Amino acid sequence: MSSSPTGFVPSDTQITEVGLPPGATPWIGPRGQVMERLELHLTYHCPERCLFCSEDHRMQRYNAFPVTWGRVAKVLRLHAERGVKAVHFTGGEPTIHPRFIEVLQLARKLGMRTSIGTIGTMLARPDFAERALPWLDEALFSVHGPTAAVHDAMAGRDGSFERVTAAMRNARRIRPDFSLFANTVITARNIEHLPDTVGMLGELGARLIVVSNLTAEGGGFDRYGDLAPSLDAMARILPTTPARAPDAVLRFFGVPMCLLGEHWPNSNDLHWDPRVTVEWQSAPGKVAFAGIYSWAPDRKRVHPPACAGCTRQDVCMGVNDAYVEHFGTAALRPFGSGE
Ligand code: SF4
Repeated sequence: MSSSPTGFVPSDTQITEVGLPPGATPWIGPRGQVMERLELHLTYHCPERCLFCSEDHRMQRYNAFPVTWGRVAKVLRLHAERGVKAVHFTGGEPTIHPRFIEVLQLARKLGMRTSIGTIGTMLARPDFAERALPWLDEALFSVHGPTAAVHDAMAGRDGSFERVTAAMRNARRIRPDFSLFANTVITARNIEHLPDTVGMLGELGARLIVVSNLTAEGGGFDRYGDLAPSLDAMARILPTTPARAPDAVLRFFGVPMCLLGEHWPNSNDLHWDPRVTVEWQSAPGKVAFAGIYSWAPDRKRVHPPACAGCTRQDVCMGVNDAYVEHFGTAALRPFGSGE
């Protein structure tokens, strides 16, 4: 499929080949949203083995296909021409791309704001951090527990907590003004530690802390029944967390809004920008580096019958479809006229 010549994309998600001639700038979504954000998968390798890694299957399928400098440069130039103003590099672990710093430099040269999602691998090295940080506007560090014991069990590798927290300290030391952000994935095994995780991230200087619900993709799909945090646990614990990091902004990603208590305005459903994600895709008879257009944060989320009558159904994207299938939705607390 490709985007229409007018740039109007009629459905919420489409796949198109990267490399189409520019012609529809800017890209406009079904509700008039302007596409200004690119997510680019730089590599299909990672030194960690996170139990819930949403990219696990894709890394196995595509790690034989390197994301070359030429391919990255082509994607960045195309999207800059089409009005994209910010690029988020992800992976695998983006900092291990052999030309990572040059990639950042090119994105900046093209006028893009640069960010990464990282578990800190290369930024834990002070010399590398010194060279990379000047070209980065923000970094979202993956931290899944308040201690080495909790985080390393999630990341599947000893020493992971030490590396990612060292990377955060390097970033703060080298660029005190840096947009130091953190992402923590909640599972049944670490959710009881979440208040301490948020507190620790606040002390490390995180300005934005994203609490991400487990998604049923990759390792998260394989282990969903074991790893999914319950709606009851989320309703009990999530509303207590903003107070643990008073200087940070908290966002809750993939979480039913009705479980957030008075903090429902911190739902990421209300603070989400359309994006095109460029990565390897399987097409008939070939593998293509292609863009997936997302106009709403509704991937793999549904409104089960329990949401009927909820007054926030138009802005809340609902519950993970896998959760509904495995566990049901008795714990939902639909917003009603009495709120
Ligand atoms: S009841 Fe459904 S639509 Fe309403 S806030 Fe909860 S999950 Fe969202």
